Amino acid sequence: MTARMETRLVQGRPLRLCLRRSARARRLSIQVSARQGIEVVIPPRATLSDVDELLTLKERWLARQADHYGVWSGPRRRAWATGSELAVLGTPRRLELVALADGRARTRSELSDTTLRLELSPTDLLDPREALERWLRRFAGIHLRECTDRLARVTGLSPQRVMVGERTSRWGSCSQSGTISYCYRLVMAPPRVVDAVVIHELCHLEHPNHGARFYRLVRNHCPDHDACMDWLRDHGFELEL
Ligand SMILES: [Zn+2]
Repeated sequence: MTARMETRLVQGRPLRLCLRRSARARRLSIQVSARQGIEVVIPPRATLSDVDELLTLKERWLARQADHYGVWSGPRRRAWATGSELAVLGTPRRLELVALADGRARTRSELSDTTLRLELSPTDLLDPREALERWLRRFAGIHLRECTDRLARVTGLSPQRVMVGERTSRWGSCSQSGTISYCYRLVMAPPRVVDAVVIHELCHLEHPNHGARFYRLVRNHCPDHDACMDWLRDHGFELEL
């Protein structure tokens, strides 16, 4: 697998994008996210002129995506430091990043209504992104399980297992065997949006599809469901570290 960055003119404006050869890809595709920027995935048999053709064909769409995600000049990487704001359950918390006291190995954290205070090792202080991700994953593991338990009692639908991990394109999913998985970054969204995703997945335990009966059940338990999904569609790209 090889990847290289290139600049292409899209509607007269330079766009940074990544061309990535993938042995496993079946077809030529374009993926967009704030963290990865714009990435063209090229399967073994596709040529560079196939890529050019696709980019020309998709010019207007590419410009819209680059605007939407703010990635004209490549992936958007936030620089995290004391004073940065991180949304936790929809509320911005001011980060206070402090050095771990001498002789202590375990880091401590404290979340309040307005701040998130983290004790970090010297290496993490220089680049706190990974430490933030570890904290958010741990928080999500606890919070999303609590939400699922609470809403399982309300709906009368209980999963076999709850998993919290990384999903780039989906905020939640429900397997045939009754396992519900969430993306840990979901806890950056407002509580009503988190609840809507949890209810959506719980209802899949009853209806493993997106049919009319599924949506009737979802909207019955969560009248706000469609507005919350719209919120995620419009703001999901902001829920990035
Ligand atoms: Zn679904």
